[in-house]
Amino acid sequence: MKLFDRNNSDADAGESAGEERRAVEVATEQALSRTRRSWFGRLASVLGASDVTEELWESLEEVLIGADAGIGATTAVLDRVRASKPADATAVRTRLREELVAVLRAAERPRGRLWVGEAGNDVGLDVEPEPPSVVLVVGVNGSGKTTAIARLAHAYRQAGTAVLCAAADTYRAAAIEQLQGWGQRLDFEVVAHRQGADSAAVAFDAIEAARARDAGVVFVDTAGRLHNRQNLMDELSKVGRVIERALGRTPDEVLLVLDATTGQNALQQARGFSEAVEVSAVMLTKLDGTARGGIVFAIAAELGLPVRFVGTGQGEDDLAPFDAGGFVDALLSGPAPAGA
Ligand code: GDP
Repeated sequence: MKLFDRNNSDADAGESAGEERRAVEVATEQALSRTRRSWFGRLASVLGASDVTEELWESLEEVLIGADAGIGATTAVLDRVRASKPADATAVRTRLREELVAVLRAAERPRGRLWVGEAGNDVGLDVEPEPPSVVLVVGVNGSGKTTAIARLAHAYRQAGTAVLCAAADTYRAAAIEQLQGWGQRLDFEVVAHRQGADSAAVAFDAIEAARARDAGVVFVDTAGRLHNRQNLMDELSKVGRVIERALGRTPDEVLLVLDATTGQNALQQARGFSEAVEVSAVMLTKLDGTARGGIVFAIAAELGLPVRFVGTGQGEDDLAPFDAGGFVDALLSGPAPAGA
């Protein structure tokens, strides 16, 4: 994945950034092919009708709720589209696009205090100008947390930033080994202690090491088993507090990794994690594996959290920065060809 500044216009960012943006759009479109084939694909026929009938509103509601957008976001979006009294189905489509984008934009937060990589050409996370920027990554086991960290570390490294990862999931030996394995493969450094060690101490050491080595970003992996276990929540709060002590500020980003295939369950997980740490953004993995990509609207509307990245496949580059407009356009672009 290439990181890029989506606030720049193509003209400002230059041709190569334009190409990168297009590559991101293609990756997102492909990852959404299941969602388009099943749920959003139906929009093409629903909106193919010329008249705005009660049936049309019902079908739209069915599509959005079926795709996991959640009742809150669905009702809010459709109420606003209806209130604009669209004259025909084409006008419904235009207003629908605007309102879906608006739901996502309302949850966006200012970010990019550090421009990572070539100036102005790439940014992904909300990080600080006083290095190291620290990104605490939380999520249940199996959500794709370790893979996400490896992909992010890889992307930032490729953008020219020295990266360090803290293997602070000390509960499972396999988690430490997995991150170290990625570090070797993709050439980033991993700070690790032995299994069972104090996870907050690993995070602390990683920040110290990053300072000593002038690393720009530290990604802190954390334990992820059973979100409703009090000890896990206590551990995450402690890691957060220790990072704050070591940095002199709270973590620059607390990235919650959610598996898109778990649908509404992901929202419950988010609420659980938010009790322990102040989650600032979401990375939505396995978008390619779900037919219910509408979950992004529920995340924005019900949790008020921005989605920063989406996982688009199994490979090390299969991560795309999230762009509200591009995402909605991909959803509304009609059914993906069979087999895509
Ligand atoms: P963790 O337990 O949360 O650290 O999860 P892992 O990083 O080990 O990932 C769990 C599984 O999900 C692995 O098999 C990954 O390859 C897979 N995975 C992660 N992200 C994605 C994604 O975006 N798409 C697909 N299809 N698989 C993914």
